[in-house]
Amino acid sequence: MGGGRPDELAVDRAFVCDDCGAEWYYDRHRCPDCSGRAIGTYELGEGVLVARTTVEMTPPDVRSPNHLGIARFGEVRLTAQLADGDVSVGDRVAFAGAHRLREGRDETDPRLTRIADGE
Ligand SMILES: [Zn+2]
Repeated sequence: MGGGRPDELAVDRAFVCDDCGAEWYYDRHRCPDCSGRAIGTYELGEGVLVARTTVEMTPPDVRSPNHLGIARFGEVRLTAQLADGDVSVGDRVAFAGAHRLREGRDETDPRLTRIADGE
């Protein structure tokens, strides 16, 4: 990537290595497979929830219960907050935009929402 600011990258984008074709999420600086730095991005579309959990005991400034899930978008797996507890394993999911996990913290985390059948 050029001199852009990776912090401004949308949460619904994954990365693809120009050298080996690996696809991944999170690490914005180099390929986890070949350590290549020629990296492109692409928008994650529709994924499938493969695991989920609900954390009841959270810090004071984090929502409780906090619904978390692992979703698969093609080759990419990622962990994200779920928009609500109404998402089940096997459901189709999509990004619902960035969400501030803690009040007052600049960092945002991706949040997934269920795609209703028939949409
Ligand atoms: Zn690579």
